[in-house]
Amino acid sequence: MQTSFTAEQLRDPDTAESNRILRTCVHCGMCTATCPTFLLLGDELDSPRGRIYLIKDMLEQGRPATELEARHVDRCLSCLSCMTTCPSGVNYMHLVDHARRHIEETYQRPWPERALRAVLARVLPDPRLFRLSLLGARIGRPFAKLIPGQSMTAKRLRAMLALAPASLPPASPMQAPQVHRAEGARRGRVALLTGCAQKVLNPAINEATIRLLTRMGIEVVITAEQGCCGALTHHMGQHDPAMAAARANIRAWSREVAGEGLDAIVINASGCGTTVKDYGFMFRTETEAADAARVSELAMDVTEVLAKFGYAPTREKPGLTVAYHSACSLQHGQKITALPKQLLTKAGFTVREPAEAHICCGSAGTYNLMQPEIAAKLRERKLANLNLTQADLIAAGNIGCMTQLAGDALPVVHTVELLDWMAGGPKPAGVPGNPG
Ligand code: SF4
Ligand code: SF4
Repeated sequence: MQTSFTAEQLRDPDTAESNRILRTCVHCGMCTATCPTFLLLGDELDSPRGRIYLIKDMLEQGRPATELEARHVDRCLSCLSCMTTCPSGVNYMHLVDHARRHIEETYQRPWPERALRAVLARVLPDPRLFRLSLLGARIGRPFAKLIPGQSMTAKRLRAMLALAPASLPPASPMQAPQVHRAEGARRGRVALLTGCAQKVLNPAINEATIRLLTRMGIEVVITAEQGCCGALTHHMGQHDPAMAAARANIRAWSREVAGEGLDAIVINASGCGTTVKDYGFMFRTETEAADAARVSELAMDVTEVLAKFGYAPTREKPGLTVAYHSACSLQHGQKITALPKQLLTKAGFTVREPAEAHICCGSAGTYNLMQPEIAAKLRERKLANLNLTQADLIAAGNIGCMTQLAGDALPVVHTVELLDWMAGGPKPAGVPGNPG
């Protein structure tokens, strides 16, 4: 694709990068075939190619974003399915990240939307505020249907209340900053990103990760200064809060690297994993560039760490069939596709994959709160395909997907909970059958 940025525009590193990305697109349109929003809406402007043209025009002209660009970029899930499909290697992720930042900085959204985005950006990354807000939402949940009107604000409020879980697990002391010692001889040492929303919604995921890794002889460090990975605000185009969150993590983990050393930084929420693996790019022009690149090199999904250290089950086969839901951030963002299925098979489960496994479930960070109608259609489509597998349960590697798919007939658990169970841990809540 030809571009016409001025020399002055290209002095900005983000614009220079977007220019490079735009020039790799040959506008063949193959990406449209696997884009969930194009599949649902059938509008070229809701396809990757259409969005690329909108972004190109907006950035080239160096003008503030308009409602048109904001609408179509906001509808993008950042699922990155288009990157898997693209034969030309277009880095849509970095392009849309730049576009979201430009929109956030130059477009004035209607005030209810601004207020909602400000609240989400403040509450979601803070586990204490998030827990409080979920307790509030629990009280409001029965009244969701009483919220009047068909405005987007009313729909978003209803979606938020519907997504709030009916009950919350207690805070887990295992997730507090500490060192979990390896059982037996130490074979490795890793830092664990305990996350923000995940540690409130489902502490069992971190508990299973810590149990399994320490049982395998791996010391697990939870550093005091780590927090949200920054993905939630990054995907809202809020550059400064995202960088501040990432910077705190980079400092915390770099201190560990310089101290006793780390074999990996373990991440069990693939949405966070995609972002931490991108810290090197995000900080390429910052003073922390070298540390950020090192952190990105060390960042691994929990399944990668389990494969590296040789996961081995110890229980009898459970006689259960698992429908594996491949989170977009894992399959498209990190290109991890076969590994979770191989580990589940090794653990003794029969693994089935649903049709349209490459299509997003509609979770996508705050997407199911900000775009509730599209997210609900994608959820329905995903659950229909998962149910067709006739599995006993669903396994996924991302808390966002787990929350989005919960509430249907099939229980949804994290892959690592199943792997921990089969290696001597407790049976995950909701899994059918006898305890192993
Ligand atoms: S598939 Fe790649 S090269 Fe083709 S239009 Fe889409 S982004 Fe551009
Ligand atoms: S990231 Fe997903 S929703 Fe966005 S353009 Fe690409 S395929 Fe479509």
